[in-house]
Amino acid sequence: MVSRGELFAECRDLIAQRDDETAEFDTTCIFQDLLGDKFPMFAPKEPVPDDKAAEIRDLAKRRSEGYPLQYLLGQWEFWGCNFKIGEGVLIPRPDTETLVEQVLDICRRENLSAPKIADLCSGSGCIAVALKKELPQAEVWAVELSDTALGYLRQNTQLNGCGDIHILKGDVLKSETAASVRGLDILVSNPPYLTSQDMSELQTEVRHEPASALFGGEDGLDFYRAVTELWKTSINEGGYIAYEYGMGQHDAVKAILEKNGFTDVELRRDGGGIIRTAAAKNIIRSGFGS
Ligand code: GLN
Repeated sequence: MVSRGELFAECRDLIAQRDDETAEFDTTCIFQDLLGDKFPMFAPKEPVPDDKAAEIRDLAKRRSEGYPLQYLLGQWEFWGCNFKIGEGVLIPRPDTETLVEQVLDICRRENLSAPKIADLCSGSGCIAVALKKELPQAEVWAVELSDTALGYLRQNTQLNGCGDIHILKGDVLKSETAASVRGLDILVSNPPYLTSQDMSELQTEVRHEPASALFGGEDGLDFYRAVTELWKTSINEGGYIAYEYGMGQHDAVKAILEKNGFTDVELRRDGGGIIRTAAAKNIIRSGFGS
């Protein structure tokens, strides 16, 4: 039987052929997952049973071929919570925590302890769950179209003790979906925003993620144009929209918000320094046409 130490070195070297920077981390995650041991390398001489070694080698091989670590593990962390994920749902990214922070800052500033919030294109539910955790009295709606994503979303709300999040299956680009959720204090969304060009240059890992969660039309802005227009009357006067978007899209997203009557646009940078989110205030009275 191979020892943990020998197998670790073998897997790390295999993954390093693809990505030298993450090989150590990826291998540690795979070992932790498969051996059910938080500190697998505390016992490097411990023999690894043959069936476990085969499973570990298989995951390391798939990782070395560009399959996302997050899907191999079937779970990922966001905002200190654990989210079940797999093919068919977007992997939660740390950049999106900036969006959660921005919404929480708005709630603090506006003294909203029990806001009505809708998270559009909710996917795994990471934004909705993070907000519900921080604002237990909030009425949180999570809107998602994909059945696969909805399966994960349901599971994640339950596993994180947020079973009272209202889950709505619907297409955010349809007016009837917008009409079914009214009186919002905050609309938050990380919609698909990659351009046609981006889609043609996707990293191998991202190619395993659902195109429906990534592609935002030729210029990547289809969702911002349609959602802002369709949902603005679902937002209370004085309420907010908060969006995540891609690198370089901030001016266009700001213009879309302002064109639709939103003001006080605040842009934020993510942890990597990229201008990543925008929040803006609604000055249109809801329920009165437009
Ligand atoms: N942040 C993702 C990426 O860069 C895109 C997610 C999205 O389109 N909302 O791959």
